[in-house]
Amino acid sequence: MLRTHTCGELRLEDLDKKVILSGWVQRVRNKGGLAWVDLRDRYGVTQLIFEEGAVAPELLKTATTLGREYVVQAEGVVIERASKNDKIPTGSIEIRVSELKVLNKAKVPPFIIEDETDGGEELRMKYRYLDLRRNVVREKLQLRHRMMQETRKYMDGQDFMEVETPVLIKSTPEGARDFVVPSRVHGGEFYALPQSPQTFKQLLMVSGFDRYFQIVKCFRDEDLRADRQPEFTQIDCEMSFVDQEDILEIFEGLVRHLFTKVKGMELGNIDRMTYEDAMRLYGNDKPDIRFGMPFVELNDLAQGKGFSIFDSAELILGINAGGAANYTRKQLDALTNWVRRPQIGAKGMVYVKCNEDGTFKSSVDKFYSQEDLKAWADKAGAKKGDLILLLSGSEKDTRKQMSELRLKMGDDLGLRDKSVYKPLWVLDFPLLEWDEETARYHAMHHPFTSPKKEDMELLDKDPGKVRANAYDLVINGVEIGGGSIRIHDKETQQMMFRHLGFTEEEAQSQFGFLMEAFEFGAPPHGGIAFGFDRLCAIFGGTDSIRDYIAFPKNNAGRDVMINSPSSISDEQLIELSLDIKEREKE
Ligand code: ASP
Repeated sequence: MLRTHTCGELRLEDLDKKVILSGWVQRVRNKGGLAWVDLRDRYGVTQLIFEEGAVAPELLKTATTLGREYVVQAEGVVIERASKNDKIPTGSIEIRVSELKVLNKAKVPPFIIEDETDGGEELRMKYRYLDLRRNVVREKLQLRHRMMQETRKYMDGQDFMEVETPVLIKSTPEGARDFVVPSRVHGGEFYALPQSPQTFKQLLMVSGFDRYFQIVKCFRDEDLRADRQPEFTQIDCEMSFVDQEDILEIFEGLVRHLFTKVKGMELGNIDRMTYEDAMRLYGNDKPDIRFGMPFVELNDLAQGKGFSIFDSAELILGINAGGAANYTRKQLDALTNWVRRPQIGAKGMVYVKCNEDGTFKSSVDKFYSQEDLKAWADKAGAKKGDLILLLSGSEKDTRKQMSELRLKMGDDLGLRDKSVYKPLWVLDFPLLEWDEETARYHAMHHPFTSPKKEDMELLDKDPGKVRANAYDLVINGVEIGGGSIRIHDKETQQMMFRHLGFTEEEAQSQFGFLMEAFEFGAPPHGGIAFGFDRLCAIFGGTDSIRDYIAFPKNNAGRDVMINSPSSISDEQLIELSLDIKEREKE
């Protein structure tokens, strides 16, 4: 080996040892006659010292001419430092170097490779391999590694088998567009990349594998949003002979295990909430329950008093921002402007300050008496010193807007502490979701999700009301996993496809293999998948999943390092039977 120790390893106990270290030059400090070089590798930084008199003059010269990021090998003796650095674990020692070899030179890096860098996002992505040398970046991937290992340990311990499923498949309906891969051998035909291994894991249950998991790449060609990657990783799981409760328990176990082993934190109880309550109380199917501030409906108290905006509203919602009665006029105006932004879309906002002297001050004092406002405050659970904020309009929009306002108030009042973790199961999702654009129902989760038995009779009468055996795990307002108990008989599956507007032939050609498998003894089964990148981000306490991916795509879905996507040669196009040029001519 080109080293005896790593750059993070040596301590006072190692004094006088003869060692060889290899790594990258982080910094050279030249004091004339005395030079220090900080040598860095994945494990840490160790200081090398070159002192006139103690080392050969050529050696001192070589040391002082080393460039940043040169790869060097240094041989020497561990000595005690005169002035210690208690910020790094190796800070009590340094190496008096007797031999120094440059293993490779380096160009001046395009940005400073330290925790605080001068490199912008785009530049760091172009040179991601250099960005990854920075501790703060590498540590995120180390966290990911830990999460992966601990996931495998837990799953293996629970008798789950990790099985790889194919990447060249055909369409799976997870609600996004597929990435497709043209087949050369079968000109004019295409593979699709899996949006998830959904159908395969169900087939594995038919095979009797009983407990499956896989840490797996999934691909979805969705419109790009800030925190989305076209390829991402799931912890994908499926189990046989279980009901919903079993799945919730096993995977609470996984989440607990990860918190204990990776974060050294004991998770308390994981709360549960129905989808209906989540929407009613928080206007959101992934509520952040680190703080309360639930919605109260104020139609009965606020209508019929001559305020036409409220009188004509389908829904009037209030939230109680505890302790915020001291908001200034300016702050309230800013909030009003904030809810009026097109992204939120509210027409306006009404406030009620619950003053310390027991009086109320609102933006609608003209229409409402002190008693009226007190009744609102009582319903909202507001006390002296609190601030009630109200929005109104159509039911759907108002819930959505209030959800955003609630989260903003949570932020403004410091109630969304990143070091606090509040997981929540959201249960009983609707089976179907009406899509205005296509004017038909879509599966809210996916078409293999089983309806609740007791709601089956509603399927024909009122499909939108049917609930599914589907569940999501939410942590701090972020959906990190979702799954369902599946349909496992052909008839129900066929009926489901019918409800989703598939013709018999379409269902057969796309999912005939699954329905046929259901005829060969399919066990009752269900599963879940976790968004692994997001789970890592939550554990790391940051918002961006990109930080937890070694080589991520940028916001435009582009890998700027390897420059992909990119065009391919005419020969390749012809080989793949892709007539792009011909079509352009047309
Ligand atoms: N395949 C689903 C998804 O990717 C998860 C599941 O139902 O297990 O969301």
